[in-house]
Amino acid sequence: MTDNKQKDKTGWNFDNSYAGLPNSLYTILNPTPVRSPDLVILNKPLAASLGLNIVELLSKDGVAVFAGNKLAEGSVPLAQAYAGHQFGYLNLLGDGRALLLGEQITPAGDRFDIQLKGSGKTPYSRRGDGRASLGPMLREYIISEGMHGLGIPTTRSLAVVTTGEPIYRQTEEKGAILTRVASSHLRVGTFQYVAKWGTREELKVLADYTLQRHFSDIITTENRYLQLLREVIKRQASLIAKWQLVGFVHGVMNTDNMTISGETIDYGPCAFMDTYDLATVFSSIDTHGRYAYGSQPRIGTWNLARFAETLLSLLHEDQPQAIALAEKALSEYGNLYYSNWLKGMRAKLGIFDEEEKDQFLIENLLKLMEEHRLDYTNTFLDLTFARLESDEVYETTQFKSWYDNWQQRLDRQQQSNEESQQLMRDSNPALIPRNHRVEEALEAAVEKGDLRVMERFLNALANPYAHSTDQLEYCTLPPEGSLPYKTYCGT
Ligand code: AMP
Ligand code: MG
Repeated sequence: MTDNKQKDKTGWNFDNSYAGLPNSLYTILNPTPVRSPDLVILNKPLAASLGLNIVELLSKDGVAVFAGNKLAEGSVPLAQAYAGHQFGYLNLLGDGRALLLGEQITPAGDRFDIQLKGSGKTPYSRRGDGRASLGPMLREYIISEGMHGLGIPTTRSLAVVTTGEPIYRQTEEKGAILTRVASSHLRVGTFQYVAKWGTREELKVLADYTLQRHFSDIITTENRYLQLLREVIKRQASLIAKWQLVGFVHGVMNTDNMTISGETIDYGPCAFMDTYDLATVFSSIDTHGRYAYGSQPRIGTWNLARFAETLLSLLHEDQPQAIALAEKALSEYGNLYYSNWLKGMRAKLGIFDEEEKDQFLIENLLKLMEEHRLDYTNTFLDLTFARLESDEVYETTQFKSWYDNWQQRLDRQQQSNEESQQLMRDSNPALIPRNHRVEEALEAAVEKGDLRVMERFLNALANPYAHSTDQLEYCTLPPEGSLPYKTYCGT
């Protein structure tokens, strides 16, 4: 991986290390040009951190790169091949509507994939049109940037352009392209693809590339592929705990949508939970609740087991021993996940130290929330800011008894009430991208071409732990009697 290219005037500074991997892992091809590109939104702080010049990005040539109508200096676009268990069944997939333009080397020396989503057909498109529509691309922009604001590892959104071409879903929609930034697009499914259809040598090259790209600081000489497995398990345990702590429902945790880097990827049918309920499902196709809120930690194990299987031939030459190593690594996931979650929950309740009974205190609160159908985010805010007149459930003896236990627990630790409250402010977001607010922002942007609602919302989401007065309005719940929120794949 070299960094010896000349920057172009926009600051694109591409390296193309992925194109150095075995040919079977990708197809080199250019984006399909679009009729009349128009910039809808540009993430200026992100662009600046990538070393890009905002004025140049806003120019006709700058926008043409986001539309796939022009290639930046040094870009070698490619569609990645991968596989994935979709709702439990293994399929051959790949970037059907996305292209990696290259890896941007930032002024700080970091490497980020720059990917267009919606850039036209590829050999992996199957029956799809290779395109995306404006609403879902702006939705990914809002939610991924919201996740970033919440401090959750995620791919980011750099820009959305409209293409000037209609696309056809349920109705005719405006075509659009999202430029996505990721620390890489290596997926569990990338390993599944090579393990099933490639050679052991190719698998080794992929695993070494991955270690070099994401884990260079941890690799030692001793069984580096086992270290890779253990690190991916660690990152996913930490990521999924973070999802649970904010009430994020990914919606389509297929193995192709699980990254090796530990970033959240693929904002399709995802949404945030309002009322606390483990059975929460938004996706219209998840009829059995495979990817329900409360099932995500368990699906994490299932997906990681599929990842471990791909590495068996590298873990040990003797298969039973390879399996034993993989099983031991996988057995660590449960504790890793739970300790991350418990630590996060303690912080949400202002608890600094550890007592064994903390888990009961937490579980009892969650039970109360479930029984009384309380809003997950706002309940923690009510506790943080002692807004106990806001809901009649706080008057019940059941809640009062829980509250006394909690106060006694806080009294038993060394930290002051002020320190506890600060910890709670830092651990309970003032807002999340609530579904009705996301929809309101999208409606203004897509139907009326008015981006102001979305921009105000993004500003509030950028720093959810600020608890500023302009964030208060985003606490409101969907209007009484609203239909259950539904999300869709194949957008
Ligand atoms: P997803 O459900 O977004 O993870 O996508 C699953 C697979 O379908 C991936 O291989 C995508 O690239 C592909 N895909 C999704 N939408 C389209 C589309 N409009 N055209 C071509 N391929 C698509
Ligand atoms: Mg996907």
